[in-house]
Amino acid sequence: MRRKLAAGNWKMNGTGRNLVEIETLARDHAESVVDLILCPPATLIERAARVAGPVLIGGQDCHAEASGAHTGDISALQLRDAGARAVILGHSERREAHEEDSAMVREKARAAHAENLTAIICVGETLAQREAQNTLDIIGAQLSLSVPDSATGHNTVIAYEPIWAIGTGKVPSTDQIGEVHDFIRSRLERRFGAGVGRSVRLLYGGSVKPDNAAQIFAVSNVDGALVGGASLRAADFSPIVAALEATA
Ligand code: PEP
Repeated sequence: MRRKLAAGNWKMNGTGRNLVEIETLARDHAESVVDLILCPPATLIERAARVAGPVLIGGQDCHAEASGAHTGDISALQLRDAGARAVILGHSERREAHEEDSAMVREKARAAHAENLTAIICVGETLAQREAQNTLDIIGAQLSLSVPDSATGHNTVIAYEPIWAIGTGKVPSTDQIGEVHDFIRSRLERRFGAGVGRSVRLLYGGSVKPDNAAQIFAVSNVDGALVGGASLRAADFSPIVAALEATA
């Protein structure tokens, strides 16, 4: 049985004064039956890890190399050293704004695995791709190119994040979410075999809020959520976590 997972992505939000949100989350879910990961900006990782209790702290990106002349970048080795245990890779905002392609995401995931970080690998289609009925082709290609051979259920999580649902308040129907999650599951099983393929957790991401979380968590092959805006405040994230706990 896969353990459920709620992950939060703070993006470029938060300073030291927001660490209280992580402390509150850790306190409210001290005995949680689900896993929790919070990915604050890199500047907060070390301080967050000190107050996070059972909440694992993650980065939002890493470089594929361990060190070198890469101004402004951060390596998996450095994330681990700062106290991170996971890293989000291939988020659509990075694929778009930093022109990251799936081959780059795969190399980053390899680097994350080498440092014992859980790679949360994001895939998702644009609205135009969905309207052209290309969703499964796009997801299939992203998946096969972005996920390295080193993936296991322990070190890899896949987040399905339709780009048109991120930060927009628009959410796919539960049938649409289920179709993509079932497809991802079958692709993983085909490539890695039933053992690994069934053990990788699949998160849905895109405008998950306290009032739609329970509905989304009832969908087959949804093992949790990757949450952006609603992860910034414990008052919003906590009810989402509670909805997930209710399914575990
Ligand atoms: C995200 O950016 O990963 C995300 C899911 O954002 P939001 O929850 O704000 O749509």
